[in-house]
Amino acid sequence: MPPRKRPFIAGNWKMNLTRGEARTLVAEVIRASRSLPEAEFVLFPPFTLLAEAASLTLGSPAGLGGQNLFWEDKGAFTGEISGPMLADLGCSYVVVGHSERRQFFGETDETVQKRTSAGLRAGLRPIVCIGETLAERESGRTWDVLKRQLDGGLAGFEDAEFRRLILAYEPVWAIGTGRTATPAQAEEAHAFIRARLQERYGKEAAECAIILYGGSVKPANAYALFRERNVDGFLVGGASLEGASFNEIAAEAVRAYKEVK
Ligand code: PEP
Repeated sequence: MPPRKRPFIAGNWKMNLTRGEARTLVAEVIRASRSLPEAEFVLFPPFTLLAEAASLTLGSPAGLGGQNLFWEDKGAFTGEISGPMLADLGCSYVVVGHSERRQFFGETDETVQKRTSAGLRAGLRPIVCIGETLAERESGRTWDVLKRQLDGGLAGFEDAEFRRLILAYEPVWAIGTGRTATPAQAEEAHAFIRARLQERYGKEAAECAIILYGGSVKPANAYALFRERNVDGFLVGGASLEGASFNEIAAEAVRAYKEVK
């Protein structure tokens, strides 16, 4: 049985918000991060808002990360952002391999591995996203897909590197669709992922690994999802754009955490 971990609540703003909107939202999340110390809050604004968010979150419990990074540290790569640049801005995390990157920007398991490696090199904690499409689930290929994405995305990482990674299970059919995995579906996938991690890195490292669920997480489903033993937190998209819904998701996770700890 993995130990119950404090809820890790990540907000992926995607390509949304301007500076004024971001200021209000960050202030609301900082307030919640102070009143809910059991939860770990981390925000993933678009690159244009990172500097602003970094100055606002400085000294608060809320953490910050980038939504992507390039695998080289610097050079002639117009339009790209590197790990050292994110670290320099005050980021501690970076999302890698989000399904929208895989779907629209040609991300593969190999490039996920390279970006993850670059994030680690820069001292960031990468959140590596994996998840099956609806067609893959319906044709019974979910476990093959998750295994392939895990093996490819994490290829070559040693124990100490693995321990700095966070995994996010995000079934593509649940992202932005309003359709959430049931708690039982999420638990089944998370348990599968943890078992696979255990084969590679051993029981203790696998049990310590943080595995987030993402896919239409809302205040109404956060409690039931977090009650599942292998769900350690959430990567929230749409509902992270409103302070009230994001903070309520955290509060619901904390409520479940206190009950099942
Ligand atoms: C996401 O983009 O990681 C996500 C889970 O989005 P949403 O919560 O909107 O489904």
